[in-house]
Amino acid sequence: MKLVVLRIGHRPVRDKRITTHVGLTARALGASGMLLAADDPKIKESIDDVTRAWGGDFFVEIGVNWREAIKQWKEQGGMVVHLTMYGLNLPDVTSEMQNRDLMIIVGAEKVPPAIYDLADLNVAAGSQPHSEVAALALLLDHLQDGRELARTFDGVRREIVPMRKGKMVIEQT
Ligand code: SAM
Repeated sequence: MKLVVLRIGHRPVRDKRITTHVGLTARALGASGMLLAADDPKIKESIDDVTRAWGGDFFVEIGVNWREAIKQWKEQGGMVVHLTMYGLNLPDVTSEMQNRDLMIIVGAEKVPPAIYDLADLNVAAGSQPHSEVAALALLLDHLQDGRELARTFDGVRREIVPMRKGKMVIEQT
C-alpha cells in the first residue's frame, strides 16, 4: 500500500504553517511523500530538513499540476481519495481503501468542484468541519490500524528514547 498526499489550494503566506504540518503528519504517519500543487520551495526545505534529521525517505514535490498528477495516478492503477466533510464517513469505507495505492487529496480554503468527481472516493473524518491535518491523521491511522505509530525510520541522525518523564534524544555524529 503506497500512500501519497496531494495538497491543493495552498496560499503561500496564509497556509505555510498548516501545509508544513500536512507534510510532517504525512511523513510521520506512514505516507511516502507529498505533492504540492503550488510553487513554495520553503515548504519543501523545511520538511526535507526534518527528514534529514529524523530519517526515512519522504519526498516533497512542489509546483505539481494536480489534474495531471491525478490522471497519472489513476493510469498507474492507484485510487484517488479526497478528504472532505461532505464525503462518506471514514469507518464505513476504510476497508475499501486498505491495501490500495492511495493518493489522498487535502484542500486548504476552497476545493475546485472537479475534485469531487475526479476522486474515486470522497471521505469524511466525521461530518463536521475541522482541519486537514486532523482529517489526514485519522485517515492514515484507520488505514494502517494504528501500526504507523510503531514504525521506525532508516538513516536517522536524531532519535528519541521514549521516557515516562523528561526528554532523551540520541544524536548520531
Ligand atoms: N469549507 C472548505 C471546503 O470547501 O472544503 C473546508 C476547508 S477545511 C479548513 C480544509 C480541508 O480540511 C478540506 O479541504 C478537507 O480536505 C479537510 N477537512 C476538514 N474537515 C474535514 C472532515 N470532517 N473530513 C475530512 N476532511 C476534512
